[in-house]
Amino acid sequence: MQIRTKLTIRFILVVAAIQFFGSLGVYFFSANYRRELFYDRLKNKANSTAKLLMEVEEIDAQLLKKIEKDNPVSLPYEEIIIFNHHDEIIYSTDDEHFIKITPQILNEIRLKGEKRFISGSFEILGFLYKDNEKKERLTIIAGATDIFGYRRHRNTGTILIIVFATSILLVLVSGWIFSGRALKPISNVIAQVNKISASSLNLRVQKGKENDEIAELANTFNQMLDRLETAFNSQKTFIANASHELRTPLTAITGELEVSLMKERTNSEYRDVLVSIFEDMKRLNSISDRLLLLAQSQSDIKDKGFEIVRMDEILWDVQSELIKLHGHYKVDVNFDESITDEGKLEINGNRQLIKAVISNLIDNGCKYSPDHLVNVLFKHDGKFFIIEFDDKGFGIDADDLPHIFEPFYRGKNSLATRGHGIGLSLVEKIISLHNGFIEIKSEIGKGSLFIVKLPSKY
Ligand code: ADP
Repeated sequence: MQIRTKLTIRFILVVAAIQFFGSLGVYFFSANYRRELFYDRLKNKANSTAKLLMEVEEIDAQLLKKIEKDNPVSLPYEEIIIFNHHDEIIYSTDDEHFIKITPQILNEIRLKGEKRFISGSFEILGFLYKDNEKKERLTIIAGATDIFGYRRHRNTGTILIIVFATSILLVLVSGWIFSGRALKPISNVIAQVNKISASSLNLRVQKGKENDEIAELANTFNQMLDRLETAFNSQKTFIANASHELRTPLTAITGELEVSLMKERTNSEYRDVLVSIFEDMKRLNSISDRLLLLAQSQSDIKDKGFEIVRMDEILWDVQSELIKLHGHYKVDVNFDESITDEGKLEINGNRQLIKAVISNLIDNGCKYSPDHLVNVLFKHDGKFFIIEFDDKGFGIDADDLPHIFEPFYRGKNSLATRGHGIGLSLVEKIISLHNGFIEIKSEIGKGSLFIVKLPSKY
């Protein structure tokens, strides 16, 4: 069901419930008021009749009956019967007695002082009357039919029903229009959002003039679109860069194969080509491994399993592997006095990933330094295990610094150096996966210091 229909129905139900109970209240108050008014009039009339009979010497029962017969202020079908204390009727407006009075009723009136009851269409009031002059206690029964009162009451009921039905109809129409107007901005937002697709992520939702929830919704949606667009664009750049990086060694391989297949070659020539292709394949492998790692989500990587690893052991492995590959690399390792025991060298992490971090940072330090020397220092600050990579190399340009962790970004100092700009982005991703931090201090011509902090197991 549409929100508009739902809102209108709820609105009607609420108004109908309020109005129903309100009308019910009015109807019962009106019934009560009619009854009280009628009994008051009945009592006044009966009192004045009794007064005439008892206090005016010249008026006896026969005369009073005649007076009352044509009395214009009498109530419809009015009947007044007056009993003395021997239960004898001393006055009655009518000899036929439409109202049947039993001794039981008379006793009850004497006991309670007053009694109201209904007999057919008659509403009857019985009460005690004290005649002060003759010192007599009389019981008066007065009854009549409240024709006008009931007619008025029925009229009130009809008016209430008409008002109820009309107002529900008005609420239905106004509720439908009102909810339509209230929801229009949402329908606008939906229509605009429907127009936005992957190829038109640059479009934005109009906020409208008001500064309300709809504007907030449009704002939130636009912010989400900003994030999506950025993510989408960086994904596109990433794919373009990645395919470019992969294409370079592939083009080299294709070229070498093409040239070598142009004519017959000697065995040693074929061997040289194979060795060169093998080198290119190793590069391709390393690039695709690193790309895969970059593209993996946090949870994919976490699934690789964490264990307690000794950082110095990993460093020795990396050192020997790098020096085997690049004989001119020099790695100087030192332990700060804060490393008081072996436990302080342990962290909870993934051995392969931590190895990639250390390897990339040492490789960069040696790559971007004329002396190819990196000083590694192990430290502990009580909470974090810290490893510093210090080189006295080219340093990084201040303009490059904010970008060096972006995938495929290469600094101005890297023009003459091999690389793909993937290393540091991978390093940052792995460190954040281990809930650690990386800081960098660098000055052109003086060198760079990379500080890695990882939560200590200690
Ligand atoms: P690559 O080294 O393959 O270019 P990285 O992601 O490892 O890619 O590094 C990104 C850039 O950061 C490098 O191109 C280089 O400009 C700069 N850089 C990284 N480490 C150092 C360092 N130790 N000294 C100077 N520049 C560095």
